Amino acid sequence: MLDWFAGAVESAKAMKEIGQSLLTIRDENIIRERVYDLNNNLMDLQQKLLEAQLNQMELVQRIQALENEKLQANQSTDLKAQYSIHTFANSAHAYVLSTEANPTRFFCSNCLETQSLAVTLQGSFVKVCPKCTTRIRVG
Ligand SMILES: [Zn+2]
Repeated sequence: MLDWFAGAVESAKAMKEIGQSLLTIRDENIIRERVYDLNNNLMDLQQKLLEAQLNQMELVQRIQALENEKLQANQSTDLKAQYSIHTFANSAHAYVLSTEANPTRFFCSNCLETQSLAVTLQGSFVKVCPKCTTRIRVG
């Protein structure tokens, strides 16, 4: 990833050397040749800096994506921490609010675990999730 940097340093070094040699040369043809080299190095340096800028933009985008992922992961952890698993007499289970001692509402395990969504199950003996249609028999 830092290839562009090593390349840019090489180009800058070459330009400095060419510039220094120009000070002592009196032959016009050699001077023309060195100026040509100097221009080539300058274009090379510009190319390397452009690559560096593109790399930086990619890194900034990657950082933003990772920060979003982290935020979503934290939010789903916060949500799941509010619920606990309730096991019915027939060993079927659903999530309930951890704060309710005698739960009256039951939440779909599938939706909470896979999509971090708290969806209330509908029905009495057979409870159905209106979102993913998961069915559990509780009696
Ligand atoms: Zn569901």
